[in-house]
Amino acid sequence: MSEEKSLNFIEEIIETDIAAGKHKTITTRFPPEPNGYLHIGHAKSICLNFGLAKKYGGTTNLRFDDTNPVTEDTEYVDSIKEDVRWLGFEWAHEFYASDYFEQLFQFAIQLIEKGLAYVDDSTSEEIALQKGTPTQPGIRNEYANRSIEENKNLFVEMRAGKYADGAKVLRVKIDMSSPNMLLRDPIIYRIKHAHHHRTGDAWCVYPMYDFAHGQSDSIEKITHSICTLEFVPHRPLYDWCIEQLGTFPSKQYEFARLNMTYTVMSKRKLLQLVNENHVLGWDDPRMSTISGMRRRGYPAASIREFCERIGVAKRENLIDVGLLEFCVREELNKKALRRMVVFDPIKIVITNYTESEEWLDSENNPEDPNGGTRKIPFSKEIFIEAEDFMENPPKKYFRLAPQQMVRLKSAYIIQCNEVIKNEDGSIKEIHCTYIPESKSGSDTSGIHVKGTLHWVSCAHAIKAEVRLYDRLFKVENVAEAEGDFKDHINPDSLQIITGALAEPALAADSKDQAFQFLRKGYFVIDKDSSTDQLVFNRTVTLKDTWAKEVKKTNG
Ligand code: ATP
Ligand code: MG
Repeated sequence: MSEEKSLNFIEEIIETDIAAGKHKTITTRFPPEPNGYLHIGHAKSICLNFGLAKKYGGTTNLRFDDTNPVTEDTEYVDSIKEDVRWLGFEWAHEFYASDYFEQLFQFAIQLIEKGLAYVDDSTSEEIALQKGTPTQPGIRNEYANRSIEENKNLFVEMRAGKYADGAKVLRVKIDMSSPNMLLRDPIIYRIKHAHHHRTGDAWCVYPMYDFAHGQSDSIEKITHSICTLEFVPHRPLYDWCIEQLGTFPSKQYEFARLNMTYTVMSKRKLLQLVNENHVLGWDDPRMSTISGMRRRGYPAASIREFCERIGVAKRENLIDVGLLEFCVREELNKKALRRMVVFDPIKIVITNYTESEEWLDSENNPEDPNGGTRKIPFSKEIFIEAEDFMENPPKKYFRLAPQQMVRLKSAYIIQCNEVIKNEDGSIKEIHCTYIPESKSGSDTSGIHVKGTLHWVSCAHAIKAEVRLYDRLFKVENVAEAEGDFKDHINPDSLQIITGALAEPALAADSKDQAFQFLRKGYFVIDKDSSTDQLVFNRTVTLKDTWAKEVKKTNG
């Protein structure tokens, strides 16, 4: 990133605050609700919160916003921690909103004692009706007149488990005619007899998001509490609670959430995809989850780079997933080891090759001067890609065809002499001759060919399964497409090639290593892989084939 890059609006606020002596340094937090796996939108928030703290010498807390006992689970807590670390960030403290339940309860008591909170016995329907509409003021009911003593007793009884779910709520007394509906005596506590993943059965009253979130920020002395735009109308309540309780003056700032083409990003929707078996799990390589992207082979650095490039916006927009893939390619091009794998083999017999085999040198990565080389076996019988041969080629076809010459990558130039057919007319094998003096690296043949093909030696090739992924959805803007989002699932998002043949160097290669299969794309070993059965995921194609599609269809 260039040094004179201008500040984003949050950085401007922070620099103004620091210059004014408001804070010496900053404290931020990343506050996931542990009700699902993190997705690329969360990565944006993580990079922003941790990135700002790093830039201004501050710290970031990881806070699990676990105030909703029903949907939360420790499986999610563990996956979230793994994902944040994998993205390259370390938190100063690991906190849980549930650790503050006692303190939050006492804050609520304080509000009751100040005459600012009351227990309401109305049903949720009654409460909704009494709230009015944005153009019509609401009506405060008779429960708002309860005495401080009575409210305190009732609230303590609520905690003690005396009442059923929904029988009573605690509301704060603000303004029933405020144009901001969220200030019309919002509920801050509800009764829920539910087991919590950390506090067990200790509680049956749980704080509502707005109350818990702001006060958790205050307890941790968060200076800049960064959230997404839908929380703009919540800010007055956030400020009101802090002011009334006199707690640490945390401030909330909102930025536009990340939306991306051809995908969904809400945990609720991602959970549906998992539960209804549209994908193989949270870490399915087609998912927008961090764990899915990791399994697919996206480097963490490319996700950070993507988040940096999209910047921090104040208005919602839809980011092209092609930008993320561009960042992935840029990163992989630098570090991926080049290998040869044939997906749909057709046999070549080199009739004039008399050696039994030879091991040729081939570069691991031409982009990396220290990348070194590997040995690849060459022999009389090899496989090339079926689509790299044509019996009746059009003009300017530079691959293999009768009488035509091509170079085999890192090996020799061969010429096609004869096509041997099966009884049914299909091709059995292709007979070629090779030019001994055309060996790569010491070519004295003087022959120039335009096509270079990837290949593997028949006797040395190892079998592999290759999984190719396409967009999970057929439409660009899934959130705004008509009907249910699942109507737009791409039925062809996974293609499995079971009979691919790989050069033997791949057998010894390690997990987590990025590969470029020549002319095929970038690949990584999948967790389903074993020593008997190699399984690869295509991380991304070599070029943006989708951009080409768009150009084509636009004429
Ligand atoms: P979802 O709708 O996917 O469940 P959420 O906002 O409810 O998302 P949380 O676990 O509450 O998920 O979010 C943790 C943090 O990540 C919040 O600060 C939230 O604003 C931020 N975040 C969530 N989704 C996005 C997104 N698409 N872009 C940027 N930040 C996001
Ligand atoms: Mg949420």
